[in-house]
Formats: sequence, C-alpha cells, structure tokens
Amino acid sequence: MYRPLIRNRITIYFIVITGGALLFLGLYTLYAFKEYSEKNFIDSMFIHARYSRDVLYGESPDIRQRDRLNTLAFNLGDSMGLDIEVIGQSGAVIAASRPRSANAGQLEKSEVASALTGNFGWDIRPDDTGQKTAFVAVPFTISPPYQAVVRVSQPAEELYGQFAGLARAIAAAFLVALFLAAWLSVRLAKRLVRPLEEITDSAAKMSAGQLDERIHYKGDGEFALLSHVLNNLAANLSQKIHETSAEKQKLELILQNMDNPVLLFDKNGRVSAANRHGQQLFGPNLLGQHQLAAIGSSVLDTAIRSVQDNSVAKSTTLKLTFNGLKYIFQVFVASLPAGQNILCVFHDITALQNIYEKQMEFVANASHELATPLTAIRGFSETLLDGGLGSTATNIKFIKIIHEESERMQRLLADLLRLARLDAADYRQAIALSPIAAEGLLEEVLEEFSNQCQHKNISLSIDYQRQPGSLLANRDWLKQALVNLTENAVKYSPEGGKIMLTYDADDACATFSVSDSGLGIAPENLPLVFERFYQVDKARVKGNSGGTGLGLAIVKSIVEMLGGTVKVESRLKIGTTFSFTVPLNKILVSS
Ligand code: ADP
Repeated sequence: MYRPLIRNRITIYFIVITGGALLFLGLYTLYAFKEYSEKNFIDSMFIHARYSRDVLYGESPDIRQRDRLNTLAFNLGDSMGLDIEVIGQSGAVIAASRPRSANAGQLEKSEVASALTGNFGWDIRPDDTGQKTAFVAVPFTISPPYQAVVRVSQPAEELYGQFAGLARAIAAAFLVALFLAAWLSVRLAKRLVRPLEEITDSAAKMSAGQLDERIHYKGDGEFALLSHVLNNLAANLSQKIHETSAEKQKLELILQNMDNPVLLFDKNGRVSAANRHGQQLFGPNLLGQHQLAAIGSSVLDTAIRSVQDNSVAKSTTLKLTFNGLKYIFQVFVASLPAGQNILCVFHDITALQNIYEKQMEFVANASHELATPLTAIRGFSETLLDGGLGSTATNIKFIKIIHEESERMQRLLADLLRLARLDAADYRQAIALSPIAAEGLLEEVLEEFSNQCQHKNISLSIDYQRQPGSLLANRDWLKQALVNLTENAVKYSPEGGKIMLTYDADDACATFSVSDSGLGIAPENLPLVFERFYQVDKARVKGNSGGTGLGLAIVKSIVEMLGGTVKVESRLKIGTTFSFTVPLNKILVSS
C-alpha cells in the first residue's frame, strides 16, 4: 500500500499558499486600516490643536494670566471634546482644560519635545490613568515672547476597539476562507490526481503480470500520453513475453526430448538444471548436487574447471558405471555467457565403442582362425617341398591335410563373406523381403543332409504342426539359417541320433525349429553360442575340423534381418533345440 504523496502534497501546498496569501492580505488590510485610521485620527487632532492654538493666540493671553488660559482651554476642550494643555519650555503644564495630576516632566514626551523644536509632534500611549490616548502637540508662541506648546489629547480606545473588531472580522474571514481553501484543495487534488491514480492502478496490475490490462483514460494531455505509452509498453511486453515463452517452450521441448543427457552446472559446480534424459540416467535427486556427488567423475570435474577458467569449450571422454552397467560418454563442455554456468551435453558412445571393440576382436579372431589352417598348409607343403617326400601313403596324408585345411579356410572365408554382407546396412536395407512359400523349404534341407545323416545313422524327419503358409522373407537366407542349424545338429549328434525339423505358426509368424538328441550345451555356455567365433569346445566332436564358430552368429544375423527372433533350449547329453521366427505374409494368409 502506498501513501498518496502527490495528492497530500498538492493539498498541503494549496492550503499553505492560499492560507499564506489570505493571512498576508488580512494582515496588510489590518495594517493599512490602522495606518489610515491613525493618520485620520491624528490629522483631525492636528486640526483641533492648530485651531486651539490659533484661538489661544487670538485671545492674546499672557502667560501670567493663568486663570484666563485655563478658562480658554477648558472652553475649547469642552466644545471639541478634547483635553487641551499649554506646556511651557520647562516641561511644566501652564494651563489645561482639566486639572492634571502630573504637571511637570512633559519634556520627556516625544510630541512635546518635537513641538518645542518648532515641529508638529504626536504620540499614542497610555495616559496617566493607563488609558490608551493620542497626543498631538503644536508649537505655540505666547507673550511675553515665550516658546510653549499646545497639546491636545483624546482617548484612542475607540480607535483600537475598531482595530480589534476589524482584526476579529478578518480572522473569522481568514478561517472561513482557509477552511474553504482546504476543502477546495482536497477536492482539486483528488480531481487532479485521480487520472494518475487510475493509471497507477492499471500499471500496478500490468507489473503484477496482467499484461492484458489497459488504461482507459478519456482525456488528453500528459496523462493521455502516459496512458498511451504504458498501454503500448504492456502490449509490446506481452508480445515479447509470448515470443520468449514460445521460444523457451521450443527449447525445453528440444532439450527434454533430446536423446542426450544435458546438464547445467552453476559456478560452484552444482547441477542447476537437467533434462529428462539426464535425470533418468543420473537420478531424480540430481538438482543442487555437486558434480562429484551426482556423477562422481574427476575427469569431468577437471574439464568443467578448465572451461570455467579459459571459457574455451572442450570435449572429453568419460567411462561411468550406473546400476552395474558400463557407459562411455563423449561429453561436450561449454561455458554459457550468463555467469559462469557450464553446459554439459553427454553423447552415449557405449554402443559405438562396443561395436568398435567387437570389430577389433572380430578382426583378431578372423586373423587367428585364418592363421591356423594357413600355418598347417604352409607347414605340410614346406615339408613336402623340402624333400620330405616319403611313402605315398604319407604324401597322400599330407596332401589330404593341406586339402582339408584349404577347404576349412574356404568355409571360413565364405562365412566371413556372409557375415560381412549381413552386417552391411546398405545390403540389409536393399534386401527385398518378398512373399515366399514355406512349402518345400524344409524338404530341400532334408534332401541336402540325407546323405550325411545316413553316414551317421541319424534319423532326420520333418514335423509340420501347421500347414506351411506364405512367409515374408528372403528364401536364400532363410534356407541358409536352416542349413546352418541342421548342419550343427548333424555335427553335434552322435551316431544313431535323431533330428527333427519342425514348422509351426501363429497369427503373426512362423516358427522353424531344429531339434537333436545330441551332446547338448551346458547352461553357462548357452548365452554365448551366438557370439562370433565362439565354440564350446573345439575338440568336442571327434574329427571335427570344420567348425568356424560363425554358423550360429550367421543364423542370428539372418533371423534379425528377416525381422524374427532366435532362441535355444538345451540339456546336456539329451539334446538341443534351436528355433527362430519369421513374419508371416499376412496379406496372403488372410486372403
Ligand atoms: P561351429 O562352426 O563351431 O559349429 P557355430 O556358431 O555353429 O560354430 O556353433 C557355436 C558352438 O555352439 C559350437 O562350437 C558348438 O559347441 C555349439 N553348438 C551349436 N549347435 C549345437 C548343437 N546342435 N548341439 C550342441 N552344441 C551345439
């Protein structure tokens, strides 16, 4: 709440000015009246004094005829209603219209002293009885030549009574005028300030955020201009706020929906803002925490300090562990112009790094796998070339090994080539998934492995749980997956084993399974069998020189490319079932 300062001031100033003017006018009127009345009073007394002197002089009284003088003075005084005295040079009263109590010492009276020097003199003062009296004295030459003074006096109470009456009237008028002025000034101040108060009220609402508020001032002049300016200000401000909040919303939307965690640190290294992703990763209680407590990375702390000191943005790599998961981040650290706030944008490069590491591992594994047969080929061929040619049987054995190892290399290279194609994003996208008939696919596979199965006395059969329908797939790759699984089933089944190829389907997809009654896979190895180059035990199958460790990895890649999933169930020494899904060609199925 504010004090109505201007209104009060206007009121006070108006009252003071009006009151001052009225007071001055009243006092001046009183003074002028007093001057005028006194002058008139004294002037008329001078006329009487001169007249008295002339009468006294005309009668040529002698100073020695005191009785005569007294009689004359008495008659004159009586006729004019005044007291008349004749005062001698010594200051003694020579004659008087009525007997006086103090006759000497009149020289001290100013009017007497003045008249004795030949001038007129007057004074108003209390007389011997204490009554306010006007005295007027004129010089008077009396015979024998003697300088005297004729003094007339008259009570001035009436005169001052008039003054007092006038003063009371003026004071009453002054008070009434002052009251009127006060009343008028309050009204006037209110009237003057009302537009300002209205504008102030509206401006207060605007400043409180009600930017739709407008000042409706009807008049013109300064207040109209002020209203116009304030209305424009509010309109512009409202528009700017709308623009800014739209911009802010946009930024927030971008920030909140960014895949990257984004954190803002204040100059003390505490988290002042975080987007949704940042809070999900680093925890909801992140705000207000110091970086070291929230993220706990000394590397990031050093980077933040360096950016704070140099104001040069930098990028750093962080390795962090959250909830037992390892993350690798490329963090972009930059200082914001406002204060010493630091912006950190985290790029999760864990997957990229993993791919990079896997590629490295893959190259190392591939090199190793290729080096093994190559070393054998080189060794045996060098032995043959160095004259190690012995019996035909030995030569044939050596050449057979060289042949087997080169075949193994060929298989390995073929598998690597398949994987390379499956890994290539362009190839995966370009490969057309077209409707194919599942009918006959399993028969073809069965046909291809019938010889091998006969050799190992393995029974290979097909079980159709549903009538084979139309699939959305690539026939060659689908067959490759079935071949790889059947090849493994044959490879890891003992003589006399049993292999079953199964077809099943639900509304959405077809499921192919290859079950065998072979060695089985230990539970701890199961999650690893789809890894590239992973082999449970290279020597587990007698005479197995053909394994590359890539067969199941190729199956997984194929199935994923076709939009399905692969799984394995196995029990040691009982058997293994690999199964995968392929989407059905729904258009054909429903028609
Ligand atoms: P490989 O060329 O060695 O067969 P795969 O990727 O095809 O490589 O298989 C990976 C490993 O999984 C094999 O080394 C084998 O130990 C195990 N495996 C695959 N299929 C079977 C199966 N049907 N029965 C038992 N073990 C299997």
